[in-house]
Amino acid sequence: MKILVINCGSSSLKYQLVDMNGEVVLCKGLCDRIGIDGSSITHKAHGKEFKKEVALPDHSEAFSQMVAVMTEGEGAVVADKSEITAVGHRVVHGGEKFSASTIVTDEVIATLEECSPLAPLHNPPNLQGLQSARQVFGDKVPQVAVFDTAFHQTMPAKAYMYAVPYEYYEKYAIRRYGFHGTSHRYVSARAAEFLGKKPEDLKIVTCHLGNGSSIAAVNGGKSVDTSMGLTPVAGLIMGTRTGDVDPGVICYMNDLTGKSGGDMSNILNKQSGFLGVSGLSSDARDLESAAADGNARAQLVMEMLPYQIKKFVGSYIAAMNGVDAVVFTGGIGENSSSVRANVCKEMEFLGMKVDDEKNKKRGEDFDFSTDDSKVRLLVIPTDEELMIARDTLELVK
Ligand code: ADP
Repeated sequence: MKILVINCGSSSLKYQLVDMNGEVVLCKGLCDRIGIDGSSITHKAHGKEFKKEVALPDHSEAFSQMVAVMTEGEGAVVADKSEITAVGHRVVHGGEKFSASTIVTDEVIATLEECSPLAPLHNPPNLQGLQSARQVFGDKVPQVAVFDTAFHQTMPAKAYMYAVPYEYYEKYAIRRYGFHGTSHRYVSARAAEFLGKKPEDLKIVTCHLGNGSSIAAVNGGKSVDTSMGLTPVAGLIMGTRTGDVDPGVICYMNDLTGKSGGDMSNILNKQSGFLGVSGLSSDARDLESAAADGNARAQLVMEMLPYQIKKFVGSYIAAMNGVDAVVFTGGIGENSSSVRANVCKEMEFLGMKVDDEKNKKRGEDFDFSTDDSKVRLLVIPTDEELMIARDTLELVK
């Protein structure tokens, strides 16, 4: 059975076709600059990359071009689109309505439209992806929505409520939702497998550290707290997002500058974080090398990041009254041995001991704690697409 996994952004469409027989990725690619000049499609299959400049005026055209590169020419991996059994979509915000992945129906689409104000930048393009996929594949091919927020729906109210007047929760659904749920679910389940234990028997802190970053407390296989909030700007310092700031700072900045809500949102989401503090780059690799060259603001970012991660890890261990494993994933979590070491060192009192040799590994699941460490320290490369494909298979089977 072949399942197409779709991640639709406002001007991009990422795709992956997975043969569930052996969970083999047949091809993957990106339609970029949809609706903008200079659009292109980059397709990877048979160990090669095919890139072509092509007009992509809208998402429907991007879907058609994607099907064309999958079925025709050198990059073809299927003879006809009818070989695709189902389509799984990443959907960012499922609000309080979805606590698990679901088959897409008209009713689901209507509910998702209701959730759109919660994620105005993400849900509308996700919905466009659902609709375009329907147009291209027809009604007979089932579609599944897999939500970034769903895994965190098990959080207790004490973790998800903000102390704003209760009516804002009742009227506007203002609360913590959390994101990257598919990744936290995948790596926590994989960590249990790696440790040869049942998820129900484990307390795990999962650190998804990429351009966007979040941390989750996973107790007995369920998310009980997470660092992102109503929106993905909360929690840790990120590539261009602030992470947590005193809410008063926002009102104060607003009073001082008179900037509009939209401008403030742009500053908090796009001009802050690594980029804003360093003035150099939003990319952790650039900052690691600038810090090594003595750039003081890059050094400051590289101190802020592990310090903030450490505080979340510590608070989640307190929230769960213990921890069996801390898992690192995402571009930074999987690749930066120095960030991992700087997070875990000086937490020896909690029973964490880093093995510096093991911590140099890359590219696979591994444990970088010493044999006598009380807490297992793991790197588990995330695979959100595989998780979406698995959920889709499960629901359409
Ligand atoms: P996204 O959130 O967009 O999926 P990724 O998970 O790919 O992002 O993570 C991107 C981040 O990972 C960037 O900040 C990048 O610099 C960082 N990264 C990738 N490789 C390395 C590396 N070898 N060392 C340090 N950071 C890395």
